[in-house]
Amino acid sequence: MQRPGGNANIFANVLATRAEHSAAFAVSFSSGAMPKSSASSGANQSEALPVQVKTHRLLVVDDDAGFRESLCFLLKRKGYPAPLACAGGRESIKLLMEMPFDLVLLDLLLPDVSGLEVLGMLRQASLDVAVVVISGDSTIESAIGALRLGVDDYVRKPYVSEMLLHTIENVLRRRELEKSQRQLAAELERSERKYHFLVDASPDLIFMLDEQFNFSFVSKRVASQSGCGVDDLLRKPFLSIVHEEDLERTRYTLERVSQGACSTELRLIRRDETVCGHFEVSLIPVDSFPTNSFKGNGRRCGIYGVARDISVQKLNNDRLAFLAFHDALTGLPNRALYCDRLGLAIVQAKRNRMKVASMFVDLDRFKLANDTFGHQKGDELLKEAAGRLQNSLRETDTLARIGGDEFTILLPGLRTREDAACVADKLVSDMAKPFALAGIEVFLTASVGIAMYPDDGEDIETLLRHADLAMYHVKSRGKNGAGFFSSTMGEHTSRRLLFENEIRRGLESREFELHYQCQVDSITQKTVGLEALSRWQHPSKGLLSAGSFVPMVEEIGLMPALTYWVLQTACQDMQRWRDQGLDMPRMSVNISPCVLEQDDFHDRLLGILHEHSIPHEHIEIEITENVLVGDRQKVTDRLLRLSRERIRIAIDDFGTQYSSLGYLRYLPVNTLKIDQSFVREIERVDDTSPIIRAIVAIAAGLDLDVVAEGVETEVQAGFLRKLGCRKMQGFLYGQPLSVEKTEALLVPL
Ligand code: C2E
Ligand code: MG
Ligand code: MG
Repeated sequence: MQRPGGNANIFANVLATRAEHSAAFAVSFSSGAMPKSSASSGANQSEALPVQVKTHRLLVVDDDAGFRESLCFLLKRKGYPAPLACAGGRESIKLLMEMPFDLVLLDLLLPDVSGLEVLGMLRQASLDVAVVVISGDSTIESAIGALRLGVDDYVRKPYVSEMLLHTIENVLRRRELEKSQRQLAAELERSERKYHFLVDASPDLIFMLDEQFNFSFVSKRVASQSGCGVDDLLRKPFLSIVHEEDLERTRYTLERVSQGACSTELRLIRRDETVCGHFEVSLIPVDSFPTNSFKGNGRRCGIYGVARDISVQKLNNDRLAFLAFHDALTGLPNRALYCDRLGLAIVQAKRNRMKVASMFVDLDRFKLANDTFGHQKGDELLKEAAGRLQNSLRETDTLARIGGDEFTILLPGLRTREDAACVADKLVSDMAKPFALAGIEVFLTASVGIAMYPDDGEDIETLLRHADLAMYHVKSRGKNGAGFFSSTMGEHTSRRLLFENEIRRGLESREFELHYQCQVDSITQKTVGLEALSRWQHPSKGLLSAGSFVPMVEEIGLMPALTYWVLQTACQDMQRWRDQGLDMPRMSVNISPCVLEQDDFHDRLLGILHEHSIPHEHIEIEITENVLVGDRQKVTDRLLRLSRERIRIAIDDFGTQYSSLGYLRYLPVNTLKIDQSFVREIERVDDTSPIIRAIVAIAAGLDLDVVAEGVETEVQAGFLRKLGCRKMQGFLYGQPLSVEKTEALLVPL
């Protein structure tokens, strides 16, 4: 295929050589005169172009044998390949139909079929062959007839050789020129189709604007996006498809394009005025466009524009910007935005001599609900709780979520502390109403701490910290309430810190000891088990029971250390008792969820048992239902492994946590320990306590041991016995005792 560049060169050659050879132009038309008709005007452009290699296939048709021969001789001498020749019109038609020719030198007066008829046939069959008529018929009519039938030139007999050869060369050259022009046109058309395709298939909207910013070209995509046809848009103002809020900016940008390319973001609208998206539009003045197909001369003559749909990107950016200041789950402001608004409220309050309340709200039982029902339901609950909090507030107040179940509330422009107290009380009572979650009523309560500007702090940080402290104070007094910050709370916190350090030190300097509490068969009065309970021999406070330090040990992450120390100590004591020939009862050890979740717990426990040669079935680990709220599968696997090792598993404080009880069917549980809070409620032997009845029934149904905790009175013991619960633990049968006192109680084997 010929390249467009090649064709351009041909044009250049034609133009360059035309002037040079025009003098030599001598094609005869009626006795070799200079051509005046349009028939030879094409030759005008191409005359004297040298035909370098003559490969043309020529046909000479003339009834005069001498003429044929001399013409063929002349042509061969001039370098043409030997032409074919024939005497009659019929034969010439046959030859022309059978093989391709470039040129026919045709006599009009033929014996059988006339030259004009041959011409008619050629045109009818659309044969692509040039025809030069060489005729003795000198009438103008025959010349006109031949020209009408589209001959390329007309030479009268007798011809001047040089003239005829020149005519032939020019006709052939013109044909080549036309052929290459046709190729060029086809190539241009292909190229245009390609560029149209590229423009229309581009995901971008491509357009051109004239000097008045009207569309002079639009890609199909512009039309489809705007809901208009291409023709509807042409000559319409670009601004007619721009969103009205973006008009000013767009107009300004368009005016600036003459100074150089620029871009802007805008919304385009459809015909029905709806927004079809956000676009980044790049506009380039076309005089800087690398083409000469536009008006040039440094004058601005239009704008080339590309609009890229950035709707998704814009949405993401907007979302990111939103998330920088909002909580993704609830859509509420986050800490950053809260602080910003609190700062503003402080400034205004200072000016107006008003007060500001900054509240810290913590949902008391959220973690349990979240762990029990799963995170998805937990999220729903949080959203509902947030909605409930929001409903108790004015429009000018700010509710922010700053952590899992932690919210802050800003009440600006208050006159008194009581105003804040009223809102807080309402929040607390609203939150205490049940939430419906997965068809179950869930009770969440809220602990609210309040810090007031300017009374409790004059800057953002102080107010936040003090509200937080006030909230902790409410929690420590039993949750579900609201309270203001007071300056004594600072002491409380520093006491906490001190206590934390003391625990660390106490663990290092072996101030902890183990006490043992008996589990007794209340019918035989035999000790069937011991529970190991940690005690802390505090240097100044004396002996502290586990309840006063275990939560803090958990909080500061020292529970694993304490637990392994308990296991070591208990096994060591058991080993010694056995060595002394004492009856070694089963030992119960409390294991926190955070320890059970440790990957090496299983191996370390077995290692300790092995070290002291303790039969595995002599150990019962006490876990609470809370272990199931984490990674349930992991915990189940872990407990199954322990059970396969014959280590017993008890559920401590049974019945106090959220639970579906379903786990009892797949967890390897051996014992249920009825929580002391249920036992405490037994007042008479015929008490109907439904929970204890249910627990004993469950244990019987699943063939589990049941131990009642916190048994302090004979009435309680009698009631439990009546229900079929024999094993008991509580002050009635003995306080937790030191190792020596416990040892004294053990009987020899
Ligand atoms: P728990 O496992 O349910 O232990 C029973 C608690 O009830 C013990 O409190 C015990 O002294 C107390 N108690 C026993 N009988 C009675 C009674 O008749 N009346 C009353 N009012 N209380 C009774 P203690 O030792 O303060 O332990 C509290 C909790 O701390 C334990 O509850 C247990 O969950 C945890 N704990 C104790 N030691 C450890 C330990 O070494 N590791 C872990 N992880 N937790 C421990
Ligand atoms: Mg226990
Ligand atoms: Mg218990």
